[in-house]
Amino acid sequence: MHRFDAASDALARAVVGYALERVRLDPPPLDGTTTLSDLLARAGRTIGSSPKDPLDVLRLFTEVLAPSCVSVAHPLHLSFVPGAPTEAAVLFDLVVSASNIYGGSWLEASGAVYAENEALHWLADLAGLPEGSGGTFVSGGSAGNLSALVAARWRWRRDGGDPRGRPLVLASGGSHSSVLQAAHVLDADVVRTGTDHRGRTDGAAMRTLADSLAPSDRARVMAVVATSGTTNVGVVDDLAGIADTAAALGTWFHVDGAYGAAALCAPSVRHLFAGIERADSLIVDPHKWLFGPYDCCALLYRDPFIARRAHAQHAEYLDVLEQDDLGDEMLNPSDLAYHLSRRARGLPFWFSLAVHGTDAYAEAMEETLGVARAVAHLVRGSAHLELVMEPDLSVVVVRRPGWGASDYAAWSEATLRDGSAFVVPSTWRGETVLRLCIVNPRTTTDAVAGVLASMA
Ligand SMILES: *Cc1c(COP(=O)(O)O)cnc(C)c1O
Repeated sequence: MHRFDAASDALARAVVGYALERVRLDPPPLDGTTTLSDLLARAGRTIGSSPKDPLDVLRLFTEVLAPSCVSVAHPLHLSFVPGAPTEAAVLFDLVVSASNIYGGSWLEASGAVYAENEALHWLADLAGLPEGSGGTFVSGGSAGNLSALVAARWRWRRDGGDPRGRPLVLASGGSHSSVLQAAHVLDADVVRTGTDHRGRTDGAAMRTLADSLAPSDRARVMAVVATSGTTNVGVVDDLAGIADTAAALGTWFHVDGAYGAAALCAPSVRHLFAGIERADSLIVDPHKWLFGPYDCCALLYRDPFIARRAHAQHAEYLDVLEQDDLGDEMLNPSDLAYHLSRRARGLPFWFSLAVHGTDAYAEAMEETLGVARAVAHLVRGSAHLELVMEPDLSVVVVRRPGWGASDYAAWSEATLRDGSAFVVPSTWRGETVLRLCIVNPRTTTDAVAGVLASMA
């Protein structure tokens, strides 16, 4: 198994050849999903005690398993938050795999950590975080929110929070399910604010919530969480106003920008993020709207040394990694989140940024925003559709008057089945609606218009 011989060489050519073929598909087929019984029938039991011809196993993947996965990068995959990695990022992901770098410590991966930090600094600069901020890349927004809140709780306790008490998180009304889940893991309570008619939370709503707390509950507040781009409708909270409440409470300010903070690089919407520079922690997922492959969330801290106090693991065999007196550059990624071993998963994003330059990111971001605005305009003028709200970012929410939940579901299934598009319904204030999330520069207004026309 651990020898590179003639058979490995043939396999290498086949695997790299397939990867190349896949990257060349422009666009990839949408593909789809299937049932367990279908896969059992067509793939069968794939692992046995004796060897199989690797080319046969590869073919099983390329012909049966891969087509049973929806292509996230298809230009008409508009469900959830899709992704659209650049060719450079995807290709470099192959290099990261071939190198199998242990990305947890400076000692073992100084070069990789240096490059990841370059990419993190670009994001920190866009957000306006001060010199000395820093962080690491984790698997996704859920892991990022949890790790940030662990750091928040550490500081809350350091500053006098009851070590046995149950902490409290004040979250904006549009906050993501993963914030609730992180609080659940931390055994913290969460209270959420009300929102305006678009699902946005402003400073007044957060202040009202804080003012409504009994003094004993005020003392429990370990973090205030704002959302910079709600996942369902893409609305950006009033970050500056919410930061004021966090400051008045003397508590940690976390901004969940997993989806939306990518648009920090787009001049046309940068003003929506005013106040993000006051965050104690911030997340953004390059695997969503920053053209990186899975799995990748940038987690940034104003003061990464607090995160280190909260997260660093201590063990005899790890002590060699902890050298407190060597300065900032020696911060180990493993100490900044809930993880230890880690893939250097920021490298594909870094490589693509270095290759294309950051201006190309701003342009690509503006392109997707432009398509979202054009689609909203189209819906506004449509005879058979209504725009549920003006988009802040790139989520367009659409109503088809006369349709109920089952009509949306049937239409959505049919469009996936015929391979034309993947658009699942969502709900807004209890009503079933169609939600189009546009993060792919290959998505054109005309193509989306075709999808919308099929709802007539
Ligand atoms: C997607 C999302 C998350 C969760 O991110 P994952 O990478 O899926 O774990 C958290 N918050 C927001 C606002 C999101 O859009």
